[in-house]
Parts: sequence; C-alpha cells; structure tokens
Amino acid sequence: MRKLIFISISLFFIFSTLHAIDFTQFFSEKACRVDFYFAGNNKTTTASVARIKQEPYWGGRKSNLDQTLNLGEYRFQVTDSASGKLLYTDGFSSLFYEWQTTDESRVITKSFEQSIQFPYPKNAVTVKIEKRSGFDTWEKLIQFAIAPNDKLIQRSNPISVATKEILKSTTPDKAVDIAIIAEGYTAELQEKFFADAQKLADNLFTHEPFIRHKSKINIYAIAAISVDSGISKPHENNWKNTAVGAHFYTFYEPRYLTSPNMFAIRNHAALVPYDAIYILANTSTYGGGGIYNFYALASSDSKRAKSEVVVHEFGHSFAGLGDEYFKDKPDVLDDMYNLKVEPWEPNLTSLVNFDVKWKNDLPQGSTIPTPVTDETKKLSIGVFEGGGYLTKGMYRPAYDCRMRTNTANAFCPVCEKAVERMILFLTE
Ligand SMILES: [Zn+2]
Repeated sequence: MRKLIFISISLFFIFSTLHAIDFTQFFSEKACRVDFYFAGNNKTTTASVARIKQEPYWGGRKSNLDQTLNLGEYRFQVTDSASGKLLYTDGFSSLFYEWQTTDESRVITKSFEQSIQFPYPKNAVTVKIEKRSGFDTWEKLIQFAIAPNDKLIQRSNPISVATKEILKSTTPDKAVDIAIIAEGYTAELQEKFFADAQKLADNLFTHEPFIRHKSKINIYAIAAISVDSGISKPHENNWKNTAVGAHFYTFYEPRYLTSPNMFAIRNHAALVPYDAIYILANTSTYGGGGIYNFYALASSDSKRAKSEVVVHEFGHSFAGLGDEYFKDKPDVLDDMYNLKVEPWEPNLTSLVNFDVKWKNDLPQGSTIPTPVTDETKKLSIGVFEGGGYLTKGMYRPAYDCRMRTNTANAFCPVCEKAVERMILFLTE
C-alpha cells in the first residue's frame, strides 16, 4: 500500500512538473498591481478598476502559479488572452467583506480600496476577479484585459523612504517576504521604527512553525513617514495625520485597528519584494487586525500582549486562519458565517464538509464534537464547539490556541499545519 501511495505521489509530481507554468515564458521580474474598489451594501458587491501599475519587484512565488490553497472570500485568475491558459491565481479577503456584516451596511452603500498583485505579464492577459458563493463555487465580479505594453499603465517610482533588511535568508522567489510598514512614526522616529520592526520579527520567531522555517523568511522594514506621531483614536476624538491612515475603533469596535487606505499601503510596500504586509502602528494601546492576503496590523508598544497579538494577526493575514474565539454577548462580526456552508478557514468547521478539514488528523474513535471536560481540555486536537464568534454550530480544533486567547502557548496543531502549508506553498 505504501508503495502504491509513493508511486501515485511521484506520478502527481511528474504530472505537476509537466504541466507547471514556466514563469520565465510568461512573466518578467516586475509586478503588475491592479488597484480597484469594492462597492456595495449588505446585499450587493461590485468591483471597478481604479488603476493598473507596474511595480519594480516581484517578491511572490515562481512555482505553483496556477494553484491556490482555496483561501479567502475572493480569488483572481490571470489567463493568457491568446490561449485561455490559466497562468496565475490567488485568493484574498477584504475589509469590505467584514463591513458587509455590520448594521451600517444595511443603510448605506460604501466603497473600499483593494489591490491585487501578480508577476508582470509578457503578453496580453485577461484578469477575472471572483467572489466566493460556496466552499468551492465562485461568481464573477469583473473581467478585463491587460496589454503589458499599454502606455497608460503607471510606471512611476515608488515613494522614496528609507528601508532596512531585518532578516535576509534567501532569494525572494524561495522566501516568504514580509514587508513591515511604519505607521504613526515621524521622520525623527525612524530609528525607533527600525528597532520596533526588529522586535516584531523577534516576536514572530517565538512561535512554530516560523522558528523551524526561519531560513525561508525574509523581513524588510519600510520607514513610511507620518506627519504626526501615534495612531488615530476616533472614539477619543483623537485623529492623527499618518502615512497610511490607520485607526482604532474600526466598525465602532475600540480595539479593532485597521487602515482603509490600501493604495497608500501598497505604494510603500512596493519598495521591496513582498508576499505579505505587516503594518506596525506606533502606539502603546492594545489592539490589532489581520485579513487574509491583505495585511496584518499590530501595536508597537502594547504592554498587554506582544508576540501573542503579532502572531495571532499574522495567522489571519498570512494563512487565512479564522478566529477561534466566541463571546456570549453580541460581537461586531457576529454575522460573518453562514452555518449551512463549510467555512474556507482551515481551523474552523461547521461540520457541513468536515472531510476537507482536520477529520483525518483526529485519533480513531474520536467523539464528534468533543465533550468539554478537564481531560479533553488537555487534548492537542479535537472538535470543540464554539469559534468564529459563534457559541453554537461552529467548531474549532483545540480547547485553546493562539487564534483563541492571548494565554495560549502556541498555535493548535491544525493552525500550525496551515501556516506551514502556506510557507511551503510560497517557497517550494
Ligand atoms: Zn488553532
């Protein structure tokens, strides 16, 4: 049996290699960035293109180009216009999607900035952006062609600010490249920012699987300059003029720290090759945010939690992990999940299609769901009810995890495996 599995795995790799997209045939070393707007309300979603840019570096993967890990509320596909061949695809999520679950989206239509990026094509391509309609079904939002020699594709240089390599392990195509962007740091605070970025990197490497894959990770610090020092707190009537306009009180939730200015964020990130964006907010106030393949955001000087928040938010933005916590009182994101479909987050299940989640990793004869007792709380893996802000109908893999509390020691095994899978997907 083992031999048979080995043969089929080998055949799979031979097949994948034979059909793999040749990066150099279709793409250059630069990046193609599409800025667009999501607009709508709690029932409607539209996408409209704002601009197309050529960016100086492609920091993403050069293999697995036509594959995804099926993460995110949206995906995009880039096809060769002449042959219709799929050349590149990726999943992502948005602040807009979260806003669509708030009460405000029932009474007003709003638009939100969004960007996607892929290697700069050599020939004409067609880009399609889709919204998830089920666990593996999609509906088209917009489709458009890009001619790589179009003179109106913006080719201006990125913003000129200082950058620093915090960790350089290998070449960008073999690495997870993380761009840390300064937010709420004036020009005088540049050295504080570089020191804080080093602390952020150190905090990331307090957790597996980042520790054992450190040789596959590059980290850059981008010293974006803010007019004011600190971060806006609208609930305290305290607004600051900062590089990417991040603020607390997102969706009226005091600790929810986000930035609506994706285009400004990307303008800074363009200074380095990157797979993932981390915005480092110069504040001692506890808070953060993280959205899959969008960005993570954390406070520089929070006394309450350092590595815990840094790693938790990166779990969202890098690996698409869901929150494993839930509250008895109503939460701003209460309506995020439809329990009739299997969520795409690797560490949550509605049990609609548990086979695609961690079912095979459970010990034989496990009770589903896991009853909560002093004994089962110590289990490394189970199926515990409560997660994704819901007390009922949603299940998580462990009693505690970095994606549930600040007191957990580490990621649960399912989360750790999902993060590792993403590291390998981007680097092998
Ligand atoms: Zn977990």
